[in-house]
Amino acid sequence: MKIQNYINGEFLPPIANGWIDNYNPAIGEVYGQIPNSTKEDVEKAYEAAENAFASWSNTTLATRSKILSKIAELIKEKLPLLAAAESKDNGKPISLAKTIDIPRAAANFQFYANAITQFSSEAHESIGLNAVNFTLRQPIGVVACISPWNLPLYLFTWKIAPAIASGNCVVAKPSEITPMTAFLLAEICNEAGLPKGVLNIVHGLGTTTGQAIVEHPNIKAISFTGGTKTGAHIASVAAPMFKKLSLELGGKNPNIIFADCDYEKMLATTVRSSFANQGQICLCGSRILVEEKIYEKFKKDFIKKVSELKIGNPSEENIHIGALVSKEHLEKVKSYIDIAEDEGGKVLFGGNKVTIIDCENGYYLQPTIIEVKSNKCRLNQEEIFGPVVTIMPFKIDEEALQLANDVKYGLSSTLWTNNLKRTMQFSKQLHTGIVWVNTWMLRDLRTPFGGQKASGIGREGGFEALRFFTEPKNICIQYE
Ligand code: NDP
Repeated sequence: MKIQNYINGEFLPPIANGWIDNYNPAIGEVYGQIPNSTKEDVEKAYEAAENAFASWSNTTLATRSKILSKIAELIKEKLPLLAAAESKDNGKPISLAKTIDIPRAAANFQFYANAITQFSSEAHESIGLNAVNFTLRQPIGVVACISPWNLPLYLFTWKIAPAIASGNCVVAKPSEITPMTAFLLAEICNEAGLPKGVLNIVHGLGTTTGQAIVEHPNIKAISFTGGTKTGAHIASVAAPMFKKLSLELGGKNPNIIFADCDYEKMLATTVRSSFANQGQICLCGSRILVEEKIYEKFKKDFIKKVSELKIGNPSEENIHIGALVSKEHLEKVKSYIDIAEDEGGKVLFGGNKVTIIDCENGYYLQPTIIEVKSNKCRLNQEEIFGPVVTIMPFKIDEEALQLANDVKYGLSSTLWTNNLKRTMQFSKQLHTGIVWVNTWMLRDLRTPFGGQKASGIGREGGFEALRFFTEPKNICIQYE
């Protein structure tokens, strides 16, 4: 199957007629082709967005809200189709696509359909000066949304929904590795009556299509989720052009476990926070730090639980772990397991590729637990982004905190304890944008989402995203 770009409400092949193979990671075979879009395609998408802007930015909030709600409704209606497409494109278990990815894509549109009707700006009366100031929050114009392959439709819509809700027109690029649900979303947008040119989706490689979007002189804001290296590159291109940037980047998140926690809940959640989506979630707790008192018990129980996870063809309902997204990514993740022993680590469970019957060429890897001696090793310092976690013990709170913060990343952290004072101390002192206490990945879409340090700049979610996608302007009126 050949998917097409979506420009000005139409489905178009790339102007230069270049195509890229799209793989099904469950079987390691090509099953479609996507446009290898060039600068010319990006220009066409930009022009469509620019032409649509005057009208869309003047469309009432009620109308925008209604269209976004309709998109949400259609995503829910087409859940089986979208979930199957996501699972096939990405390798994720179909059950995960059905319960997390696609419902969340619908929720993103529904949330911003409501949020835009509640978004307001400030007014300041300058008492004694007979003046009043108010803030206009105007849409920026044409903006870019660039998203990664791990939660394809979930993250793509997390950016697009607030961008269009606040009156912008969008040039968007999904990851070239997982383009399918973005293509299906385009059909949904037409069906929902989104005016032509408000959303334009250009498929292709990051280094050409993505680069052309970032370099475009009139695309004024970029919302990007992806790797830290790519984020730094995008910042270096966009900063001298004074573009507005929101960068949601990599993580190396600590999962800090104290002996006084609710043990069974912690254990079950830690299996999930380690290996959900084959560990390919930026929020996964890939460094498990355990209080020494319960270290040996945790080790034994964790290994047992992880050994019960079923790896298999992602299209099967009862599996826990599907395929990694690509052959290259599988090799990258495996290379970290291969250096474990050189770094003084010990593989406690897993570590090997897996062959699945009827899917012999798929990209499967065992969930892997590695015991490490020091937080300084590459396994603890670099983002692996696969089904690999490390574990190590700590003795006291200060040590746990020091280990937790001793990485360049600062996206999220998880803390397991029932001690209130400790909860508050860690919450204040952890250098991460999100701290989960006695839970993981519990998301309320109103909250600010994003990372510190090398995990990015800016926040998405709630009104934060609407603030990002609007330009505040101070109007000062003296009425004397
Ligand atoms: P990449 O950085 O490789 O790619 C992300 C997106 O950027 C893709 O669409 C990619 O296109 C595109 N891209 C690549 N190079 C450029 C460029 N020069 N200019 C413009 N766009 C470009 O990340 P991955 O797709 O590998 O995703 C995994 C990463 O994403 C991990 O580091 C993970 O932690 C992070 N992530 C962060 C999240 C957060 O909220 N903080 C959430 C989820 C993931 P293409 O794929 O076609 O190359």
